[in-house]
Amino acid sequence: MFAEIITIGDEILVGQTLDTNSAWMGEKLNDLGVEVLQVRSIRDVDTAIIHALDSLDPRTGLVLVTGGLGPTKDDLTKYTLHQYFGGEWIRVPEAEDNVKRLFKALGREPQQVNLDQALLPTSCKPLINKMGTASGMWFDKNGVAVISMPGVPYEMKSLMNDYVLPWASEQLKDQNIIHHTLLTQGQGESIIAERISQIEDSLPTEISLAYLPSPGLVKLRLTGRGSNRSQLEAAVSQYATQIKDELKDILFGEKADRLEQLIGIQLKNNGATLSTAESCTGGYIASKITSVPGSSEYFLGSIVAYENSIKEKWLGVSPEIIAQKGAVSEEVVVAMAEGVASKMRTTYSIATSGIAGPEGGSAEKPVGTVWIAVHGPSGTWSQKFQFGSHRERNIKKSGLMALDILRKMLAK
Ligand code: ATP
Repeated sequence: MFAEIITIGDEILVGQTLDTNSAWMGEKLNDLGVEVLQVRSIRDVDTAIIHALDSLDPRTGLVLVTGGLGPTKDDLTKYTLHQYFGGEWIRVPEAEDNVKRLFKALGREPQQVNLDQALLPTSCKPLINKMGTASGMWFDKNGVAVISMPGVPYEMKSLMNDYVLPWASEQLKDQNIIHHTLLTQGQGESIIAERISQIEDSLPTEISLAYLPSPGLVKLRLTGRGSNRSQLEAAVSQYATQIKDELKDILFGEKADRLEQLIGIQLKNNGATLSTAESCTGGYIASKITSVPGSSEYFLGSIVAYENSIKEKWLGVSPEIIAQKGAVSEEVVVAMAEGVASKMRTTYSIATSGIAGPEGGSAEKPVGTVWIAVHGPSGTWSQKFQFGSHRERNIKKSGLMALDILRKMLAK
């Protein structure tokens, strides 16, 4: 099955809204084995919407459209799709009840303009949106499913989970799809590609390999598609083993998609707990850890100790050490890690202190200097890193590095 994604909204084109809808939908479709042929972001005008629908790739069987379904005059998608697919306007009772229910929960009366969100063209199958007042619409264009959903990410996700993904997986029930993810750290994708080029060249057509790089790590994902599940599983696993053998020195995990998931599994298996004391990462590490469902089982909390007085008061770092060594120093970051572990009574802890930039560097401690400490039952490990001059990347790299150090400590 082939799909296209169309996200509507001037705010996407001017860079005010990051098109995370496409990324999320693309990932979900890919997991099911639906191949996305094209992602387009277009203006909130009828001609752009019509042009997008008129210029679909001929292989496309599913079109996912988000945005422009709100109650205001600038939300044109519903009217344009009515113009395109035809039909009468009808008031859909289930959609109207949904609008009333949502307003009641807020203790407010819906305006006419809100109730009119239940007016939908007869040419579509209405998709009731339990998270919002704009219903989704499912049209058929000569056998191609065109599905319009709101732009608000959690509303789109709710409709995808309730209607689109179950339907797509039913369509594909005879086609098996198997993913096997390998996580590597320490080498760029081009070096990795060179190292495993022979294996890659020998992959059969039903198995593909994707390189998914992000700051500090490269994920390798083998995907197998076919009708015989056990044969496919055996083949994917055989190629995964070959790659693992070749990349032993840089491989740090498999099947889990993210470092923080892997750490979560390790902490749970050890019955251990974790806390963080973050200066330059400002809570980024805690945010990564808590993005994993179930992290409350092992993550107790974080102290974002940005200012020196907070490091002293809440983490017990001595003012003399800060005065002598500076906040960005081994002594301070070690005291932060030990301080938070003792305050929160956790088995492990992570601390960071550095100069994320772009300002604030000195000859001795240039922008990008970051001290990381990881504390555990066997002691406290610390190291200085020199990242680049880009603030956001420095924060991300520090976070990934800190998590990777913890992973290694846990693996021991
Ligand atoms: P609303 O009922 O809020 O008007 P809508 O269907 O009209 O919903 P939009 O107005 O296009 O949707 O967008 C609503 C909000 O959803 C935007 O402010 C934006 O924050 C978010 N949004 C829209 N499109 C996307 C997208 N492609 N990726 C991520 N967020 C998006």
